[in-house]
Amino acid sequence: MRADLLRWYRRVRRDMPWRRGVTPYRTWVSEIMLQQTTVAAATPKYEAFLRRFPDIESLASAPEEAVLAAWAGLGYYSRARNLRRAAGEIVARHGGRFPSDFDSVLALPGVGRYTAGAILSIAFGKPFPVVDGNVIRVFSRLFALRGRAKDPAFAAEIWRRAAALVPKKSPGDWNQALMELGATVCAPESPSCGACPVARRCAALKKGLQDALPLPEKRREPEPVSWTCLWIERGGKILLWKRSDRERLLKNLWGLPEAGRVPAAAGRRLARVSHSITHHALTVDLREGALAPGAALPPEASWTPAARAKERLVSSLWLKLLKARA
Ligand code: SF4
Repeated sequence: MRADLLRWYRRVRRDMPWRRGVTPYRTWVSEIMLQQTTVAAATPKYEAFLRRFPDIESLASAPEEAVLAAWAGLGYYSRARNLRRAAGEIVARHGGRFPSDFDSVLALPGVGRYTAGAILSIAFGKPFPVVDGNVIRVFSRLFALRGRAKDPAFAAEIWRRAAALVPKKSPGDWNQALMELGATVCAPESPSCGACPVARRCAALKKGLQDALPLPEKRREPEPVSWTCLWIERGGKILLWKRSDRERLLKNLWGLPEAGRVPAAAGRRLARVSHSITHHALTVDLREGALAPGAALPPEASWTPAARAKERLVSSLWLKLLKARA
């Protein structure tokens, strides 16, 4: 099975920027970026990010705002913050060289078992397994394992099998081949078993279970959230609000102030947008805000020049809202 899958992968693998000129740094950035972002959305951002921060040192020494600006539109901004923090740790603890042992890689901020395995197998050629949603689906079908992808016990069983199967030779290609198979052939719905390089070994196909495995997830309804935000402008500056790490959504990011947080009255509606953020269905009303004369502003509020404000409002929610207001 290994030989069949590797041969197939080397013939058909998609060309992606992170598959060219592999280094631990390039693999790391790509793996973090691809965690919650599609290949199509990540590709142009990845290339721009690497142009802006070509190596660990440039990322470690960059201001947080510059890293967040390069991450704009990708969402899950803690990923960008952790990348920068981890780069700082690599410089401080490992002399600027990416560590190559599992425990040191796993200790970096934002790096879990999957990412550590991906970096070590792809960039260092070490036989560590990786398990993502694609691998869970492929293994669930190959071995006809009944379980839900998000069930931790089921995922643990897949990790165990992945660890047993990862080869000493070309572990990076093997891991990528499994993920590529899941992404392009063994799709969530209607897998293309006729084009599958390991079809003759597939237990689900033999039993006619290829469309039934893994078992479907229990559906979780998105939680509705409503915000009213204020557009307060004065002398070419816009009032922004630095959200704290105690916020439910968009922690530690700049945003427009929500009504009630600044001493301002909400006036006419300028825009309304809907936006999804991690199981939340957000509806945001943007209204003109009029500050009470002489009122003191809380420390989280900051008058920001209009051009700079766009750099700070990195979440696609704000970009959508600004577009709707125009
Ligand atoms: Fe997936 Fe079909 Fe291949 Fe089995 S035969 S691994 S179900 S694509």
